[in-house]
Amino acid sequence: MTDTKIEKFPWGDNRRFNSYSNYFRSRFGARVQKLSIDAGFSCPNRDGTKGTGGCTYCNNDAFNPSYCVPEKSITTQLEDGVKFHKWRYRRAVSYLAYFQAFSNTYAPLEVLKKIYQEALDFPEVIGIIIGTRPDCIDDTKLDYLQELSEKYYVSIEYGIESCYNKTLNRINRGHTFVAAREAVEKTALRGINVGAHFIFGLPGESHNDMIAQAAIISQLPITTVKFHQLQIIKQTVMEQEYKNNPVDFELFTCDEYIDFFITFLENLNPNIVVERFTSEVPPRFLSAGSWGRKRADQIVTMIENRMEELNTWQGRFYI
Ligand code: SF4
Repeated sequence: MTDTKIEKFPWGDNRRFNSYSNYFRSRFGARVQKLSIDAGFSCPNRDGTKGTGGCTYCNNDAFNPSYCVPEKSITTQLEDGVKFHKWRYRRAVSYLAYFQAFSNTYAPLEVLKKIYQEALDFPEVIGIIIGTRPDCIDDTKLDYLQELSEKYYVSIEYGIESCYNKTLNRINRGHTFVAAREAVEKTALRGINVGAHFIFGLPGESHNDMIAQAAIISQLPITTVKFHQLQIIKQTVMEQEYKNNPVDFELFTCDEYIDFFITFLENLNPNIVVERFTSEVPPRFLSAGSWGRKRADQIVTMIENRMEELNTWQGRFYI
């Protein structure tokens, strides 16, 4: 432990990780708020195109804010989102429409164009973030999104979840890690921002397996990344697997996760912006893996305080 104070890290501020808020401040000069949208998409891993039953951990209802439901138009969802966030965070001046629920590139291009354009026509929206699966994108869609990205902020956020095919099989993702890497590379080559999403604590992965992913993720041409700890969500296939065989799962406690996550960050490429450290699932959806009433922002503070005590930072051991 040491008292050394570092004034600025390579990403331009004195936080010990490359934060999303700093990324947007440096990019747009102001706070930018994401507004979640449910545009009524489906998912090929549920409708039989890639698979049925979906990923074993998935219950999409658990991740969607209450103001976004597909029965409302995109404009209405954006209006409701702006009202909600103006009340909570008065400083937001611009917004990004975040197509979050299910697979938001899973429709013909002409349908996608209408949906994205309705969001981009909303007065305070300066860009879109599109959550999707790596196998729900193709060259034609990417060409169109490349055009859009010349006028607006565009990011495609791929659910990758693990770098290991044995895990992807086990959780019924319906795609390989190679497929995810190819989608990420194709997207980045077009100058479109790429986000990625990973889950820690998936069954069959040891602590060392998870830490080793830092080196693999560090090599992906991604701009931002989100990490979640595994929690068992009600009404999922995984809930049943957990009930049948709980010893197969090693769910992190909050303290274990803090130590693990700091080691992970120390090995992660410092150029990658880390958007999320943990998930925050409403308690009514949780079957196991609860950390009590701790909010995601409180855990970020706990992790940052611990990093300060250890005088460590993102990328400290990245080679
Ligand atoms: S996690 Fe995403 S890809 Fe998997 S079943 Fe749910 S919506 Fe589909």
